[in-house]
Amino acid sequence: MKKKLRVDFHVHSEYSSDSVISPNNLVEYAIKRSLDAVAITDHNQIKGALDIARKIDLLIIPSIEVSTRDGHLVGLNVSKTVPKGMSAEDTIKCIHSQGGLAVACHPFAWFKGSLGNKISKSFDAIETVNSSSFPFERCKKRANMIADRLNLAKIAGTDAHIPQSIGLSYAVLEAEPTVEGIMHAILEKRSQSFGLPLPVSLRIKKKFMLIKKYSRKKR
Ligand SMILES: [Zn+2]
Ligand SMILES: [Zn+2]
Repeated sequence: MKKKLRVDFHVHSEYSSDSVISPNNLVEYAIKRSLDAVAITDHNQIKGALDIARKIDLLIIPSIEVSTRDGHLVGLNVSKTVPKGMSAEDTIKCIHSQGGLAVACHPFAWFKGSLGNKISKSFDAIETVNSSSFPFERCKKRANMIADRLNLAKIAGTDAHIPQSIGLSYAVLEAEPTVEGIMHAILEKRSQSFGLPLPVSLRIKKKFMLIKKYSRKKR
């Protein structure tokens, strides 16, 4: 049965070198922020997403954030690693060959390896709201404009690297509460984006948590 679902489509797990989010954190914050599902989008690897999806009682969309030659993009619902360093178009083909959906994440954010003018109709969706994008309002406006121009679905994600950020941005969609149901709703453009920019306090917290992660590793 279709339900109104709230989904954060961009969360990094502790398998990403730049994140400290554990499986337990995902469950805890999904409840706190009323999320029905989370896409785990670790950089250039899928292992964490697949492991965590098996381990916890929360609907996980196994996903990957790929560093392409043209900028970052997200592959939703993939089962194998998508190689980094290819063009955006070839990366999208690789995602589609696995039955996944290609998302232009933080398309106009500064300092994040964004796609900018490499966005094309080959994408399935645009991340119109990303809490970590700077400057937030300007990025949101430009992302909405290009999604409208290319007639692409709009989704949202926090780009969370610490637990407290999870769910600050999210998409709402009417869908069956399954990965396939959610993918279907995106393709039918039944999705709306919401969210807030990451507060400065959480940006600072992220720096401290990562320093702690690395000093622990060195010991
Ligand atoms: Zn990125
Ligand atoms: Zn990211």
